[in-house]
Amino acid sequence: MRIDVFTIFPDMVSGFAGQSLLGRASAKGLLDMRVHDLREHTTDVHRTVDDSPFGGGAGMVLRPEPIYASVEAADPPRPLFLLGPGGRRLDQAMAQELAESGGFSMLCGRYEGVDDRVRTDLCDGELSIGDYVLGGGEVAAMVVLEAVGRLVPGVMGNSASAGDESFSDGLLEYPQFTKPAEFRGMTVPEVLRSGDHGRIARWRRARALRRTILSRPDLIEARGGLSEADEALLADPDLSD
Ligand code: SAM
Repeated sequence: MRIDVFTIFPDMVSGFAGQSLLGRASAKGLLDMRVHDLREHTTDVHRTVDDSPFGGGAGMVLRPEPIYASVEAADPPRPLFLLGPGGRRLDQAMAQELAESGGFSMLCGRYEGVDDRVRTDLCDGELSIGDYVLGGGEVAAMVVLEAVGRLVPGVMGNSASAGDESFSDGLLEYPQFTKPAEFRGMTVPEVLRSGDHGRIARWRRARALRRTILSRPDLIEARGGLSEADEALLADPDLSD
């Protein structure tokens, strides 16, 4: 799967993309991440990518020429998303959608943003990572790379692990524990050490429900409330540990 990123800080993004899970996925040929330096497509000695806004006002705006030239030279996979706070907000469903697509690209803005002709003519859509303003699109691109990259088939070692994670079923994940079984007086729930896989699965489901009800009731509402089976699990005294 190919993902292209256009930025004026290519080292920031390629340094991140070369590490850990994403780095290993690239080495295995599962991900083909290409980072393009917008400054390579400038024509002046100062490699200028920005200029002051028409109409006045504070800050600088990225000029369209280097962006068009860079995108046209790379012929990147589409859709090309402009990263920005006005875009569709990334969530797990969108990450899954993108992981199942053939590929896509991202353009990182900086300063006051990007000349709007780039948004309306060159890009296919806008993508936001949340309702706050970053200094540039690079961190957003890294968030998208990580959220999407790990869902690409074969990237995670244990392919089952994405299926029961937070948001996969509209719930938060159940709590996880590892050794030691007792730490500073806190013990791991007995059920997890019982070896009874049916009981463990029911306990995990009950704890995922309980955690979601407490921390993210909006997710329960979005699922249409609790089913009868959910209510029964929550009421089961054997799962209250
Ligand atoms: N003046 C713009 C505004 O008010 O919407 C903000 C520009 S911001 C300082 C610079 C760049 O950071 C944006 O062009 C965009 O690429 C990126 N950016 C900022 N917030 C973002 C967010 N929530 N999600 C994705 N990218 C973001």
